[in-house]
Amino acid sequence: MIECFNYCGGEWQKPSGEEFRVVSPYNNKVIGRAYASTMRDIDHVVTAAATAQKVWGETPIKERSQVLFRFREILLAELKDISACTSSECGKTLNEAEAEILKGVEVTEFALSLQNLDLGGRLEVSRGVFCEYRREPLGIVAGITPFNFPAMVPMWMIPIALALGNSFIWKPSDKTPLTSRLLADALTRAGLPAGVFSVVHGGRATVEAILDHARISAIGFVGSTAVAKTVYQRGSHNLKRVLALGGAKNHIFLLPDADDELTARGVADSFTGCAGQRCMAASVLCAIASTPAEQKRIDQLMTAIVNQTKQISLGSKGGTGTERSMGAIISAESLARLQRAIAQAEKDGAKLMLDGRNPQPPKGCENGNWLGPTILDHVKPGSHAAIEELFGPVLSVIRCRSLDEAIEIQNSSIYGNAVSVFTQNGGIAEYVARHGKAGMVGVNIGVPVPREPFSFGGVAASKFGQGDITGIHSLNLWSDVKKITTKWAQQRDANWMN
Ligand code: NAD
Repeated sequence: MIECFNYCGGEWQKPSGEEFRVVSPYNNKVIGRAYASTMRDIDHVVTAAATAQKVWGETPIKERSQVLFRFREILLAELKDISACTSSECGKTLNEAEAEILKGVEVTEFALSLQNLDLGGRLEVSRGVFCEYRREPLGIVAGITPFNFPAMVPMWMIPIALALGNSFIWKPSDKTPLTSRLLADALTRAGLPAGVFSVVHGGRATVEAILDHARISAIGFVGSTAVAKTVYQRGSHNLKRVLALGGAKNHIFLLPDADDELTARGVADSFTGCAGQRCMAASVLCAIASTPAEQKRIDQLMTAIVNQTKQISLGSKGGTGTERSMGAIISAESLARLQRAIAQAEKDGAKLMLDGRNPQPPKGCENGNWLGPTILDHVKPGSHAAIEELFGPVLSVIRCRSLDEAIEIQNSSIYGNAVSVFTQNGGIAEYVARHGKAGMVGVNIGVPVPREPFSFGGVAASKFGQGDITGIHSLNLWSDVKKITTKWAQQRDANWMN
């Protein structure tokens, strides 16, 4: 059993709050325990972070970047060990866990590029008068992250916030706190000075202590919309800079002219990847046909999607082609919630094209939380399966007669993370890019995650706050721009600066 302590001032410290257990979704065995942090614990961490930040913030970015270079090397060298830990605590496959760490590596590479980007500038704005701007750290900042990406989501924030000269306090999900030990250890071995990076464990009370602590300047939050909203409200009320990413209900528009293979693979992977427990997963497929011929073609494409999905077994390995497997659901409660949602959809008139409720778990994992891929056809707009974020491997198919009808359905969602279109018609793709209510749009791509330096973030109830959480549009979350105007000599010419 792994014991998880806070990481404070370069030391592992047992928090003073209640113990909680970490359970593997694969078999429901207890694999670790952690302890909730109280305001007193947060205070200790903040004191250490403040002392360390004074020196770190004054360290030139090129020196700070050397630490992140070594961090990147360690992540790559220890990819297998870190992904094994991540997979065991959140239930995703080893392949998916490796992929999320590699995305963290990509964000680290972006953070490393900041030293060579325009982080300041100077211009003679009037005779003898110079304006200059510099990017400065905020001081102590914090990140609060969800269960479904125990390594990647924190690494959306950590490298960028550290490269910009902040001390960073990370509160991982109370369901998946174990990976944090390995990331803290990697940063320390990379040479990060003690106190610059801290980890605090806990749930709601710990989050509230972070939001209420006067010396923490900015918060990056990623999780469900309900919590994102309260984090944004409470943090902003306490005059912090807050960016809070929430949940999603992502739509795919399927047109009759779509390519069979690209579509079948793209849709199947999108709603089953991470067992549907990711904010970019496809959740609703709007199948668009206005004539009998188009209807026939759409039915062909749907059959291809179902056949592709049938190749996915349950297991921890992942893989590609016919060897593909899908991981487990995070908890028994989430599994029960998904089973109820499927039963409710049937009552609401949906027809099951694929029913995952009699899953075949991998050997030795019979006690885990398993649900096979499920496809619900003829889901009614406005019904539970059409509008709620289910967060599992369930695809709701809504039959539509036109693209505008599909867009209207998508636009009526409270969320706005991603929308994708499968078509070979560039005009239709452009129409969707313009009219989809989403921060991220995919054309023949089921999971349209932007690669660095393009930034990640949704709109509407999928994101509260300004900017994005990664890439070029994340810099203002973790830094301020200072403007300096200078005149050294008396000028003979009169101007507005005299
Ligand atoms: P969650 O909202 O339950 O938890 C997120 C974080 O908040 C965790 O650290 C948790 O300990 C803490 N928390 C939980 N309840 C709280 C409360 N009442 N007050 C304060 N803090 C609380 O989310 P989850 O179940 O861990 O993750 C799944 C959700 O996250 C889904 O809705 C998913 O769409 C969303 N998500 C969004 C993105 C994105 O980029 N938009 C990325 C990943 C996950």
